[in-house]
Amino acid sequence: MKTYAFPGMIEEDILDIAARQIPYMRTEWFSTLMKENERMLLKAIGCRGGKVLFYTSSGTGAMEAVVTNYVACFEKAFVIDGGSFGHRWAELCDYHGIGYVDFTVPFAHGLDYSLLEESVASSGADVLLCQHHETSSGQLFDLSRISGICRRHGLRLVVDVISSFLSDHLDMDGMGIDIAVASSQKGLNIPPGAAFVFLSQAALDTDFAHGGYYFDFKTGLSNIARGQTPFSPATTIFMQLHERLERIEREGVEKLMESARAKAEYFRRLCKKHGWMIPAENPSNAMTGFFVDRNADKIFAELQKMDIYVMPSGRPGFFRVSHTGLQSREDLDELAEAISKIENF
Ligand SMILES: *Cc1c(COP(=O)(O)O)cnc(C)c1O
Repeated sequence: MKTYAFPGMIEEDILDIAARQIPYMRTEWFSTLMKENERMLLKAIGCRGGKVLFYTSSGTGAMEAVVTNYVACFEKAFVIDGGSFGHRWAELCDYHGIGYVDFTVPFAHGLDYSLLEESVASSGADVLLCQHHETSSGQLFDLSRISGICRRHGLRLVVDVISSFLSDHLDMDGMGIDIAVASSQKGLNIPPGAAFVFLSQAALDTDFAHGGYYFDFKTGLSNIARGQTPFSPATTIFMQLHERLERIEREGVEKLMESARAKAEYFRRLCKKHGWMIPAENPSNAMTGFFVDRNADKIFAELQKMDIYVMPSGRPGFFRVSHTGLQSREDLDELAEAISKIENF
């Protein structure tokens, strides 16, 4: 199989970690492993003196945890609704009865930062919710500019960095992010099933709300202080996470980011060669989203017959290829050739 979804192709020895008997987790060994995971994650995202909450859920679980424990503490939120993931923040606020201002951004467009600042200034909101990389289109937003606007108008900043963490430059303290959310199967490129909430030192001063039992921050924080989670963790995913983070520590975050960037740039040259339009004004390194011209309805199924996976979308002709996993230039050449053949059949 060749997969260009999330996660992408994973190293065999990391896959093997989850193919063995499962060790018991209420032990010194697991507590140490989790404390090390926390330390390495905080270092990778540039969050000094912060804490990480570990959830056995997909990324949306961690987004909901932030809404019920943190956003619920404030009167009003401001949502940058730049696609289906931005819209998820709005849906979560609706679901939990939290008032918000919806700032809609057209598909794959960058932000109009002066318009954003005007809307934020007149919104009366206390907390801004956004994505770093809107994975439905491939568009990357400028967190330093968003953060500047938040600081000037007194808003806290919550960012879903699920699909940018480890692929695009990110520095939680430097960018003034109060809370960030990530998950296992994107930049970390390990199996889906674990999600992380990064709490900055500033966010830790909050008297958190208690909007749900399973994801409660206070319970999670008292447990992680001793390297444990309140409920059964996805033990093997946290073991794979540890191995991944040790590799990143050895090689450096910069190198991983550089590798994603090189794969993305190579694939984008192939897109250009085949005439596939990339709509994102400022694309993330994690993924390339592109439009094919013909036979769009056949591409996913024909690739699947060849045991190749790309990510389709609700938008006709629009496909997405991840760059977070193992992929050589030859792999990307073959992928582009295969798509082009189906397109021109
Ligand atoms: C993948 C992703 C999520 C999480 O989606 P799940 O379906 O819960 O895995 C959230 N936000 C962004 C930007 C994503 O790319």
